[in-house]
Amino acid sequence: MTDIILVMNAGSSSIKFAIYPATATNPEALIRGKIAGIGNQPDFMVHDDEHRDMQEGPLESIEPSATHGDLTLQLLQWIAEHTAGYHLKAVGHRVVHGGVTYREPVLIEDTVMQTLESLVSLAPLHQPNNLAVIRAITERFPELAQIACFDTSFHRSQPRLAQLFALPRSMTDAGIIRYGFHGISYEYIAGRLPEVLGPLAEGRVIVAHLGNGSSMCAMKDRRSVATSMGFTALDGLMMGRRCGTLDAGVVLHMLDQMAMSSEDVARVLYHESGLLGVSGVSNDMKVLDDSPNPHAREAMELYCYRAAAQLASLACDNQGLDAIVFTAGIGENSATIRRMITERLAWLGVSLDASANESNAARISDKASRVQVHVIPTNEEVVIAEAVRKTLR
Ligand code: ADP
Repeated sequence: MTDIILVMNAGSSSIKFAIYPATATNPEALIRGKIAGIGNQPDFMVHDDEHRDMQEGPLESIEPSATHGDLTLQLLQWIAEHTAGYHLKAVGHRVVHGGVTYREPVLIEDTVMQTLESLVSLAPLHQPNNLAVIRAITERFPELAQIACFDTSFHRSQPRLAQLFALPRSMTDAGIIRYGFHGISYEYIAGRLPEVLGPLAEGRVIVAHLGNGSSMCAMKDRRSVATSMGFTALDGLMMGRRCGTLDAGVVLHMLDQMAMSSEDVARVLYHESGLLGVSGVSNDMKVLDDSPNPHAREAMELYCYRAAAQLASLACDNQGLDAIVFTAGIGENSATIRRMITERLAWLGVSLDASANESNAARISDKASRVQVHVIPTNEEVVIAEAVRKTLR
């Protein structure tokens, strides 16, 4: 029997999963899949390590109302039926919020669950789903080791000033600070920097994680120095449906003058803003890039305007800039967005090789560029699998 590790990455409406060998440090998953559209019309996709579709099995009959917990139980059943000869040794989870407590991955026990429950109000869209998945696995396999990896941990290396809001000290003491997110993705990129940048890996690097959720992280010595997301994953860059940085006065205006409830405000800020809100067309960058609608173009321009301004601000945290790395769905695939952002950074000495950029090459800056620009596909699951192996050792 070969021991395997299951990695679970539960989002607001999806569960991504991957299965790795428990001992080998292999970046390739044996099986990788996703349940998308949870709460609406769930859809199951899964393939093996040679990208062959493995989609047969009980998950074909998913109830539209199935929750993250229900679907986790169905998924465990599917995995049991498709991994004969393998033994499930442990599960690793992406958990969005570890608060100030968790700076490293942690073995999940009752006291850990209590702490994670207490953080639900800090990440109400994601944390409950992460915990529902953990609980479902505990219900089915009470003795199985489960390890949580946190999106916030990577940023705990930041200087205190980068983590503070200019709020009364009592609020800071109560935990209202800038936590930052996408830390597992940043950890993966930080691990790849030496092979990509050589000695410059320890220099002043800004990583742009541009996906449905978008953020940036300034790194020095491959550690987080500052990041664009703050107390919640709402802050910073414009995103697919989220507004990013917003004058807090707008929220007060919505509540007091527009008679909106806090639920209405949350819906607007989390689901109806960003690329979708500005374009009125879609939250999907590829759809916008293909759209003739001028509002789609304006949404893309605003996204890039704000991304360039954020990047320049993060360069100040590091007092300079040696390299930029683009990653995640938009960062890895959209030559248009990389070009539009970096054109605004020409004054920092950034210039792209147009054909390298068009072909999503690994290095996209030209020889004259004072700042190296690279594309590195992210892989959060591999970081979680490695954290599980380390914990098991
Ligand atoms: P999530 O935050 O949900 O993990 P992803 O990292 O998968 O998101 O990124 C999804 C985004 O990447 C979508 O906006 C999608 O349109 C965009 N994207 C993927 N491929 C391309 C492409 N070829 N051109 C432009 N955008 C793309």
